[in-house]
Amino acid sequence: MPRKPKLGQNFLRDAQAGERIVAALGDVANRTVVEIGPGRGAITTALAERAGHVLAVELDRELATALRARFSPQRVTVIEQDVLNFDFAAAAAQAGAPLQVVGNLPYYITSPILLKLADSHAELDLAVLMVQREAADRVTAAPGWRDYGLLSVTVQMYGPAEPLFTLPPSAFSPPPRVHSTVFRWRFAPRFAALGVEEAEFLRFARQAFAQKRKTLANNLRAAGIAPAAVATALAGAAIDPKARAEALPIEALARLWRHLKPQHQAPPSRALPI
Ligand code: SAM
Repeated sequence: MPRKPKLGQNFLRDAQAGERIVAALGDVANRTVVEIGPGRGAITTALAERAGHVLAVELDRELATALRARFSPQRVTVIEQDVLNFDFAAAAAQAGAPLQVVGNLPYYITSPILLKLADSHAELDLAVLMVQREAADRVTAAPGWRDYGLLSVTVQMYGPAEPLFTLPPSAFSPPPRVHSTVFRWRFAPRFAALGVEEAEFLRFARQAFAQKRKTLANNLRAAGIAPAAVATALAGAAIDPKARAEALPIEALARLWRHLKPQHQAPPSRALPI
């Protein structure tokens, strides 16, 4: 079957890695698990043995057909679809419980998939995902770390993300140019507890992290917020006026947002920096 590089098709050769990825979901015996991009079934094989049911969402028609021939429909439903159009809400309603998600993601759409999962958080409780190592480093970074930034804050606002293990290019066929890291993301949104509104806070985060070399105050002023309002909010939130957003934990950013909110008006924007 011809491989389609445009679809990010780097298949896992290491069966043990497939087992480890599925094991990271925990007990899934009574759960419906959505697999993103099952490909040739390296993860699906382990999943089909352990999960209550698998919804395998694959865009490539030939791969989807081969998967249907290989797995029993009692255990695996193969859905030939772009995962970005997959209806997690309908699937969760049918399952009667929140879904778990697993996948060795097609790296060319890592960011849209993460945003899609964030948007679907109400239907999900856990995801175990393999992504390019650099993306996982950014997703899971803590404040003050080199990789901490907008992607870390955006993902972690929907729940904690922890790195699990890294695989070299040789674990895949054909080998990609990059290492790959598996991380676990538990969906437990923090917006309400932090007293911030979801869409507005994420827009504010984009402004706060807009330019890495600038201070937080400069980034907010560049976004059109009045200098006096920025200074007052920083003082009210007890944040150093020279601080960079990269140094601030999510709690401090939320505190600042709450102080700024009355003046804060921003244009919508959704893209993530990967
Ligand atoms: N899970 C398999 C494995 O680990 O060997 C394949 C992983 S491969 C990195 C990514 C898979 O995602 C490919 O099978 C590819 O065809 C599929 N894919 C690419 N774009 C997709 C999309 N938009 N929706 C669903 N699947 C997609």
